[in-house]
Amino acid sequence: MKRMRIALVAAAAVSALALAGCAGGDGGGAEEPSAEPAPTFEAGTTMATLAEAGEVTIGTKFDQPLFGLLDPNTNSPVGFDVEIAKIIASELGIDEENIEWVETVSANREPFIQNGEVDFVVATYTINDKRKEVVSFAGPYYMAGQSILVLADNDDIKSEEDLVGQPVCSVTGSTPAAKLTEIGAVPFLTDTYSNCLEPLRSGQVVAVSTDNVILAGLAAQNEGEFKVVGEPFTEEPYGIGLALEDTEFRDWINDVLEEAYEDGRYEEAWNSTAGAVLPYVEPPAVDRY
Ligand code: GLU
Repeated sequence: MKRMRIALVAAAAVSALALAGCAGGDGGGAEEPSAEPAPTFEAGTTMATLAEAGEVTIGTKFDQPLFGLLDPNTNSPVGFDVEIAKIIASELGIDEENIEWVETVSANREPFIQNGEVDFVVATYTINDKRKEVVSFAGPYYMAGQSILVLADNDDIKSEEDLVGQPVCSVTGSTPAAKLTEIGAVPFLTDTYSNCLEPLRSGQVVAVSTDNVILAGLAAQNEGEFKVVGEPFTEEPYGIGLALEDTEFRDWINDVLEEAYEDGRYEEAWNSTAGAVLPYVEPPAVDRY
């Protein structure tokens, strides 16, 4: 039922239509009357406010291939995080044209949520206790892990132990930046991961360190130039950041995620984006804290 409504509401979302068509099961999406009412939510909830407005402002990354990368032709971002955000928007009855995308770099995600500049953030955003003091998280919807990117011809760095005392690029306000200090590397911090590539090329740093999936995207974007080495050495559960203590919104997004896990939309979101380079893994259970 829900999937049929999505297919109708998101008329522009060809992928949603395709999904409704190929998911088999009920198979009756096309017959549903087009006048089906928009979803209704309890008055006063964030869901009701957004559904009523018919538009939503979402923070994501603009420079991370596979997860959130601005397409200069459409001026909209593409990637797995973007698809997850679109699933949430479509469940509010908001189609793609009515999403305003805002670039959130690692350091401004909490302030953008706190000051209402965005309604929620989907941006390779690790759930942790420190951040939970100022924002809330739905999810996790993906489990990443910190890893290491080096020049393709570097055979000296094989694990995090080889980073001790070495200059390593990461991003201000990120969990990998903190981890670099903890393990005794010398952090070289900038604002976005793409801005780490020039220092790596020039030898100003010996490595870039952040989540494995971000590094895989940068390696794929610059074929032959870089390689990801070693095993992930942290756990980075990705959550959807939203206003602190907006429990109804958080619970509702968790419901949406679980539905998307079950009905194939999550897997489709992966396959059409990060799945080009990375294997599909079953999503982690959402944490209803
Ligand atoms: N997932 C980590 C974090 O949220 C690193 C990736 C990022 O900076 O977006 O800090």
